Amino acid sequence: MRHFAIVGSGPAGFYTAEALAKAYGDSARIDIIDRLPVPYGLIRFGVAPDHQSIKKVAIRYDKVAEADNVRFLGNVSIGDAVTVAELRQLYDAVVMATGAPNDRQLGLEGEDLPGVMGSAAFVGWYNGHPDHATHEPPLDGTHAVVIGAGNVALDVARILSKTLGELEGSDIVAHAYEALERSRVADITILARRGPHQIAMTPKELSELGQLEIACPVVDEADFPPQSADDDLEDRGLAKSVALLRGYAAEDCDKDKAIRFDFFARPVRIEGEGRVERVIVERTRLDPDGRARGTGEEYVLSASLVISCIGYSSPPIEGVPYDHRGGRFANEDGVIGDGLYAVGWARRGPTGTIGTNRPDGYEVAGQIEAAMPAGSDGGKAGGEGLDALLDSRDVLATCFDDWRKIEAAEEAAARAGSPREKMVSTSEMLRLLGHK
Ligand code: NAP
Repeated sequence: MRHFAIVGSGPAGFYTAEALAKAYGDSARIDIIDRLPVPYGLIRFGVAPDHQSIKKVAIRYDKVAEADNVRFLGNVSIGDAVTVAELRQLYDAVVMATGAPNDRQLGLEGEDLPGVMGSAAFVGWYNGHPDHATHEPPLDGTHAVVIGAGNVALDVARILSKTLGELEGSDIVAHAYEALERSRVADITILARRGPHQIAMTPKELSELGQLEIACPVVDEADFPPQSADDDLEDRGLAKSVALLRGYAAEDCDKDKAIRFDFFARPVRIEGEGRVERVIVERTRLDPDGRARGTGEEYVLSASLVISCIGYSSPPIEGVPYDHRGGRFANEDGVIGDGLYAVGWARRGPTGTIGTNRPDGYEVAGQIEAAMPAGSDGGKAGGEGLDALLDSRDVLATCFDDWRKIEAAEEAAARAGSPREKMVSTSEMLRLLGHK
């Protein structure tokens, strides 16, 4: 028998568990461990609440969690309730699938002012992540600045722009839904430090901005290179995104809210008396190597809310070598060390779609299988050993049936048209389960 622990129950963790469960069948036991009482990580807390079709992938993960050789253990914080060193004693392989939940810092003066948030905090707020549910993003002013030109910037700009009617059918949590109802934000600037050809926005997501009820994108034609340069774009997705932007540039925005694309613009300082009031921006141009270079020309953007969407990092955990530059665990093709692996964003950094994690998880499962073939025995205590350790420390883990109870309660509490009303505090979830 082989025993495997996967730390993190987001997409990367679940795909790895799926691959291991298939490869080993009854000759392995797999524990998927999460710090929170509920599973799914990025699917529940990162994917936008109005992208319900993407969240449906959780049905596939449910099948994995319900397999005979797999368990889900929530409410167990690795590095806190149990160390990685202890897990390595108990299991033949430990797979770090902890994602990248921390915001990368801008490193700018004024970044700590109230009203300046990272996307993990803002997205976590509207998605009901227990770490972020109590934030109160200031929505009482009219101007928001969103920093970054990736899909998260699009998610954030879109959620700030939608009407409550457009949020129907989403699982945006009640506190965010109510706050957005009162929101006065009407002017959203997306600050992109490079140009339209350098965006990291995908066409499907970018096209959604063109279909909003009371908001429209504003793009300046002057920011584009000559049209002929579009033909040289090798990335077809990027070419489509650029074509969408050109389409936006050709239209007038006649709606109540504007989502302005400010290209070749990088924030240099954030200012305000006691809260954010403005962003000082420097005009940039592209270096021959494609990097943004400041021109020295500065201007001021009013801002009552600033959200930086510039990427994420994985939190370091004691006992796991860390790559500080990459903001992820130090690994080679997913191998951190003997019996210790990384998958997903904890392995690669915060890039790629949810689907990218499937081959990633399968590859690492393959490495594990090569190192310890199915049918072999490592003589480890596995889940029973972990249960005893948790017991001795009075840690009450949640199981998949517990999640089902939380899920049922969330579905029962949903507002009309919404799939669920998420519980946003860990203690509320544990109370429902009768755990202290
Ligand atoms: P991302 O795609 O890496 O985009 C980050 C953006 O921030 C880039 O435009 C980058 O510009 C900019 N940036 C980085 N550092 C900056 C700085 N110091 N100042 C100003 N701008 C800075 O990251 P993301 O948007 O967080 O998305 C993460 C991953 O999740 C991506 O793979 C994304 O596609 C995926 N995602 C997918 C969906 C979806 O499919 N619906 C939704 C959300 C996220 P440079 O290019 O100049 O570095």
